[in-house]
Amino acid sequence: MDSEPEKLRQTIDQLRREIEQHNYRYYVLDAPTVTDAQYDRLMADLQQLEKEYPFLITPDSPTQRVGGKPREGFATVQHTVPMLSLANAFGDGDLKDFDRRVRGTLGNEPYDYVVELKIDGLAVSLTYQDGIMVRGATRGNGATGEDITANLKTIRSIPLHLHKPVDLLEVRGEVYMPKESFLELNRQREERGEPPFANPRNAAAGSLRQLDPAVTAGRNLSIFVYGIGAAELNGERLPESHSASLKWLESLGLRINTYHQLCRDIGEVISYCQIWQDKKTALPYQIDGIVVKVNLLDQQTTLGATMKSPRWAIAFKFPPEQAQTTVLDVIVSVGRTGAITPTALLDPVTVAGSTVSRATLHNLDIIREKDIRIGDRVIIHKAGDVIPEVVEVLKEHRTGAEKIFSMPAVCPACGAEVVRPSGESAHRCTGAACPAQLLEGLIHFASRGAMDIDGLGPAVVTQLVEAGLVKDVSDLYSLTLDQLRRLERFADKSAENLVRAIAKSKENPLQRLIFALGIRHVGERAARVLAEHFGDLRILMDARLEELTTIMEIGPKIAESVVNFMREPQNRTLIERLIEHGLNVVAEVLPTAGPDSPLAGKTLVLTGTLASLKRDDAKELIEKAGGKVASSVSKKTDYVVVGEDPGSKYEKAVKLGVQVISEQELLDLVASHY
Ligand code: NAD
Repeated sequence: MDSEPEKLRQTIDQLRREIEQHNYRYYVLDAPTVTDAQYDRLMADLQQLEKEYPFLITPDSPTQRVGGKPREGFATVQHTVPMLSLANAFGDGDLKDFDRRVRGTLGNEPYDYVVELKIDGLAVSLTYQDGIMVRGATRGNGATGEDITANLKTIRSIPLHLHKPVDLLEVRGEVYMPKESFLELNRQREERGEPPFANPRNAAAGSLRQLDPAVTAGRNLSIFVYGIGAAELNGERLPESHSASLKWLESLGLRINTYHQLCRDIGEVISYCQIWQDKKTALPYQIDGIVVKVNLLDQQTTLGATMKSPRWAIAFKFPPEQAQTTVLDVIVSVGRTGAITPTALLDPVTVAGSTVSRATLHNLDIIREKDIRIGDRVIIHKAGDVIPEVVEVLKEHRTGAEKIFSMPAVCPACGAEVVRPSGESAHRCTGAACPAQLLEGLIHFASRGAMDIDGLGPAVVTQLVEAGLVKDVSDLYSLTLDQLRRLERFADKSAENLVRAIAKSKENPLQRLIFALGIRHVGERAARVLAEHFGDLRILMDARLEELTTIMEIGPKIAESVVNFMREPQNRTLIERLIEHGLNVVAEVLPTAGPDSPLAGKTLVLTGTLASLKRDDAKELIEKAGGKVASSVSKKTDYVVVGEDPGSKYEKAVKLGVQVISEQELLDLVASHY
């Protein structure tokens, strides 16, 4: 028989293995199968056991080290100063304990805290040498991270050079994906039959840790910088407090989150945490807590760190917002590309301030994995603070009357066969003339980011399709006032407005039309890149795969999808009909410069390699915006545009006090003109 200590050892081993498994799925695959709260509970259990039986702690226990691991395919980077995790506080009691420990170490010294939002993203390190960004890396296991320089350079809020040339500066920050982009990305992934990301954090991590930077570039990522890792300032002194560091980092052109505050004691910290617990859903990005940091850097040094986390900081984690309810039924809907998405109809319940009566179930794999049945009692939450989702089934409530859901064999909208293409997680309707697909395609065509046709929302589109007036998007352009007036709820005025709005959409810039066509994988950004590169839809129609794949930001998947779309005779006829209707198929030509042009009368000098513009293109862009490009820097130079590996022109600019701008800042300046 097992002895007591042996049993205990086995329990602990089992817990550690389970946590390691979750770490692997979370940090390496960016695809967790449990919520953070469920994971935190396992970790808390392990910590409790290790506290009671400290002789069972091993150096490789997940409680003792940072959880990540570099993914194969990336070069690795050694962090000169370790990138640690943070200890967690799950309530006021934990915060007070933390404060007691700080006071215990600092003795009678007075101290302050800085509180900041805990952005739910991915920790990165950015290294600047002489003010130029030379490297970007993930946290990895804290000592070794992945070299993701090329990917990080595609994020527009990361400056490629600092406002001041500091000898060496390594900063830390959080790369995140705004909630809205997360929702859109998951919607697209579902349409494509790809598994959705569990939350914005995993979406950001999955987007950043891509071997192809073009994929990262296509995702809308951003950054908040929150600290300094290493620095060599050549004489100058580093700020003495965390709050002063934030100001200094901001003065260098790095993006800092504006929500931070100095607190005199732990009482103020607790109030701050409470305020954000209520306000957090209003933010455009997800936060999962509040980070509390001792303000003075000297005191931080006195407090030190464990192998896993600093002793001068703690993360207050918000309690998960969940609710219990019952799955009343599971229904399916058909998307624009025929993807069939199951949705749970729920007994209405309030979660995070709103009533929820539906939850997306994403696809059949997820239903099977979580074993969700009709009639089940379930726990739900909101992924990314927005999308209601089933977290887990409360199997102890089962009565035996629950029903297993199966995908319909035929499309509920058109009766065509439903198939599951190999390698995809979505089921799809195979009907070429499926009204549900047509409907979704039309709704997409008229939507905001696409042709933006006022008054042509889902309800009107449904009416038009049901009345047989529209069989593809080109039919919209032959709708007459008479036809519309005959429809229910259409008065003269609304009919006129709609016809006018449809006619107006003919003038839309080319990128909108390309996006509106609904080519798989072609989002708004790819549409813009294609419009700029080809300049004319008729040229894009015959673009060859080899050419498409050479375009920066167009990956092989997008390229193949464009070629396949344009090869389809049905699609070619559709485009031809749109051209006949007089839709704009030519990219905008940059207006010629006038006295109001943003660079009118300005002299610019270029140095270093620019990331997205070739030298000649940059020159042309500047000239079209009214500026002049000179070859050397003088006092008369207005701006020096700095790319990678800049030459002596950069140093001269700094010496003469000439304004130094990045490629992105140049693009922003010019964009203000158009
Ligand atoms: P963490 O996310 O709890 O805290 C540390 C991180 O916070 C830092 O590395 C940094 O990236 C981030 N951060 C955000 N804003 C910050 C700010 N203003 N200042 C400083 N840091 C800031 O720790 P972790 O080690 O990255 O991850 C552990 C957590 O991840 C767990 O608590 C759990 O919730 C989750 N997790 C979940 C699973 C799962 O399977 N669901 C698995 C592993 C980990």
